[in-house]
Amino acid sequence: MLSTALPVSAREPPSAAIINPELIRKYSVPGPRYTSYPSANHFSPDLEPVAVERALREDNETSASPLSLYFHLPFCESRCWFCGCNTVITRRKAEAADYLDVLVKEIELTASRMDRRRPVTQIHLGGGTPTFFPPDQLRRLGEVIEVQFPNRSESCEFSVEIDPRRLTEDHVVALSEMGATRASLGVQDTHPSVQLAIHRFQPHALNQQAFDWLGDHGFSSINVDLIYGLPLQTEASFSQTIDAVLALEPDRLSVFGYAHIPWIKPAQKIFDARGQLPGPETRLAMFLQAHRQLTAAGFVDIGLDHFARLDDTLALALKNGTLHRNFQGYSTGAEASLYGFGMSSISATRDTYRQNHKGLDEWCKSVMMGQLPVERGWRLTEEDQRRRWVIMALMCTRRLNFQEASDTLGVNFKNHFRAELERALPLMDDGLIAANREGLYVTSAGSPLLRVIAALFDEHFRSAGGHSKVI
Ligand code: SF4
Repeated sequence: MLSTALPVSAREPPSAAIINPELIRKYSVPGPRYTSYPSANHFSPDLEPVAVERALREDNETSASPLSLYFHLPFCESRCWFCGCNTVITRRKAEAADYLDVLVKEIELTASRMDRRRPVTQIHLGGGTPTFFPPDQLRRLGEVIEVQFPNRSESCEFSVEIDPRRLTEDHVVALSEMGATRASLGVQDTHPSVQLAIHRFQPHALNQQAFDWLGDHGFSSINVDLIYGLPLQTEASFSQTIDAVLALEPDRLSVFGYAHIPWIKPAQKIFDARGQLPGPETRLAMFLQAHRQLTAAGFVDIGLDHFARLDDTLALALKNGTLHRNFQGYSTGAEASLYGFGMSSISATRDTYRQNHKGLDEWCKSVMMGQLPVERGWRLTEEDQRRRWVIMALMCTRRLNFQEASDTLGVNFKNHFRAELERALPLMDDGLIAANREGLYVTSAGSPLLRVIAALFDEHFRSAGGHSKVI
């Protein structure tokens, strides 16, 4: 079985990206984000190959690896029309208590099959809107996590997604009592006209208030999510949004390109009907502007959509070659087995992925019948594992050393991936990738197109369906 540890030979951070708009125009096509390989839309409903119970048993046997826990809290009070998450829209707060009852049962069902002496190094509450849950419900969840997973490592990173519109100071206190010290705030855009066009009205004072409360209650790292490519945005207006957010002094920013997939998310059809989406050139201008503005403000381009302060642990991990990638994006955590709880959540062990039922009813029914509520999954073949290693090496270190890859993967890298290296030639000619006898690396011009470069090694990526454009 292949090690999932990434190469540590990359000791130098990539130089600051010198972005070439022409190359982005030429190569920006829909592609996977590589939070997993294969990407989640490739998972199969045929669970026999995954053999869920066996996967859990085998994961216990690799007991050296730590645990990463993800809890999906799916409720939102209203739908943001751009949203691509798995959510349940409701104003009935009673839903939270009912959901939590089932979630606790799922945690117990799964935890009883796990070796819980393994240290927990990461905990993440995602959504939906975790603070849809009243503070006391969050405290209850915190107690269950504590009881079921008592071996929390001292450096455990406990993070939570925050919607500043649905936050009270008591929520922050409850989250802090649970052990959370990291928050990721959904802001997206600070302009009222854009906010109305996306059905998400969020006065900037709420963002400031969230920062103040989180700071007062010991949160040491705050990330802000922004989206470019939304209706009515312009390069100038998005630049103002970035300025407004920088004034809050976040530690990290995620600047995502809006993913327009109305065939999967029907609420997005309203954007087509209104004709307010910016065109590809404006999208590109916003991407370039964000990059210029954030790097000028001292943020390091971590890769894809992520930026972090120079002294942030993500920036240090990039520098040290210890960056990882999981379903939350880039991470500093050493390779851990991921256990997801709640509807639609994804779990990952060394050679399997498993996704829970995406429908609330199906997920509830399955748990109440005493089953692990898995709907789809994938067992990685040896070849999948090789390709995952290569893709994650590119995504996280932006380079490949041929000898190191050959030693790790148990094949002669250049022979095994001859076809892929040939497909890379045009990208080398265009200066996105540079190569010598020892290996190849992604150039600063290629950094914004990491997904395109990684896709060269993706055996499963056959069509554009379901993926968002790279820029
Ligand atoms: S609050 Fe977040 S998860 Fe909920 S609909 Fe809006 S963007 Fe989606």
